Amino acid sequence: MLKKYTQEYDKALTPRLVMEEASRCLLCLDAPCSAACPAKTDPAKFIRSVRFKNFKGAAETIRTNNPLGSICARVCPTERYCEKACSRCGIDAPINIGAIQRFVTDFEQACGMEILEAGTPNGKKVAIIGSGPAGLSAAAFLAQKGFAAEIFEKSEKAGGYLRYGIPEYRLPNSIVDYEIARIKKLGVKINTNCEIKSVAALSQKYDAVLIATGFSKGKNLAMFDGCKNVSTATEFLKEAKSKAGKIELPDNVLVIGGGDVAMDTVTTLRLLGVKHVTDVVYETFDEFRASRKELRTSQENNVSIIDGFKPVAVNGNEVSFQHRYTGAELKVKADIIILAIGQENELDKLSIPSEKGEVKAEGNRMGTSNIFFAGDIGHAEKTVVYAVGTAKQAAADIAEYLGGK
Ligand SMILES: Cc1cc2nc3c(=O)[nH]c(=O)nc-3n(C[C@H](O)[C@H](O)[C@H](O)COP(=O)(O)OP(=O)(O)OC[C@H]3O[C@@H](n4cnc5c(N)ncnc54)[C@H](O)[C@@H]3O)c2cc1C
Ligand code: SF4
Repeated sequence: MLKKYTQEYDKALTPRLVMEEASRCLLCLDAPCSAACPAKTDPAKFIRSVRFKNFKGAAETIRTNNPLGSICARVCPTERYCEKACSRCGIDAPINIGAIQRFVTDFEQACGMEILEAGTPNGKKVAIIGSGPAGLSAAAFLAQKGFAAEIFEKSEKAGGYLRYGIPEYRLPNSIVDYEIARIKKLGVKINTNCEIKSVAALSQKYDAVLIATGFSKGKNLAMFDGCKNVSTATEFLKEAKSKAGKIELPDNVLVIGGGDVAMDTVTTLRLLGVKHVTDVVYETFDEFRASRKELRTSQENNVSIIDGFKPVAVNGNEVSFQHRYTGAELKVKADIIILAIGQENELDKLSIPSEKGEVKAEGNRMGTSNIFFAGDIGHAEKTVVYAVGTAKQAAADIAEYLGGK
């Protein structure tokens, strides 16, 4: 069972299939796929290179635009971005851009290519709080511009949700380690086990500060306060990933929630051998928030999904639900209950004002101060590629503010 969790669920395409897929590309001049990528990874350009068997050129395009290219190749919800915009949609099916990107970045890793280089030191120091995709990619962009980028991370290891959230079967930690090692080679310093409590103190010591602390905390529902055997999906996924799936689990688990995090939770439970996994979801199937792909994976793994019900009461290990439209009642008993109902930021701990989960500020800077922000806490979609995109923009704005190139 453990093997199922630790092996990548999506298999890589063979070189022949990659070439076939690239040959379907229409080489569009206006490249709608590239325009739709939040990190501007430029799929049209790297697919063109692949088509002409220039894999090195393809890797250079991906890496210079996106320092987390291998990770995005695996976890990006491409059906919402580049593949949704792909001109080929109007003919048959979009180009499988994620799979081509994975082939190119696997090739880059296998060949030991070193594409990014540190810039000439400019004497300016930038502190980055948080080592998720936003913090890591901002550090990579800044280091290439000659800034001394130093990351402060409260967890034991760097990576944020890349390491402690997205399950091993979708994103192996070996890939996260590989991407982080490359960023460190640019001279980026990462201090782990180092929780920052005062942004003001840091902003005096450094020329600029970037806050990239993400949505670190799983949400709870008041009715479950003090209940035994109840945890959040982020706590569960963190434990499963940090112990490489070697955790004790009962036979019968109830999950509440229907987004991508809920789908990761139910699939992880099944891959780890839990016999009965029931997922009760607030939305009905036509309102579902999880991506089709994640939903399909959970269904392939025989998760029972019951849609349209909201929890109304809990009594020990039994939760009562009511259907949102018909009023029908449902009771589910389980050994443990996992809440996958969203995440929230912890900006109050840093005394940073937030509204509806996002930093209360215009753009990506706190007024006229030297404090910037990026990733989930900003005004952006909560995805890895958006974290990279907002970090790229923040790094450019920090460079402009500090007078760098
Ligand atoms: C289970 C799960 C699955 C997901 N799957 C996908 C997916 O398939 N595709 C996708 O695109 N997105 C996915 N996401 C969303 C994606 O992971 C986030 O959008 C992304 O990680 C946000 O990046 P970030 O850098 O802003 O924050 P995070 O990744 O949350 O990183 C923030 C970091 O800051 C650290 N930190 C917080 N406060 C402090 C402090 N005071 N001092 C020091 N360090 C601090 C935290 O420990 C953490 O390491 C998923 C999220 C979850 C939870
Ligand atoms: S939009 Fe689709 S067909 Fe056009 S260049 Fe991009 S991947 Fe190729």
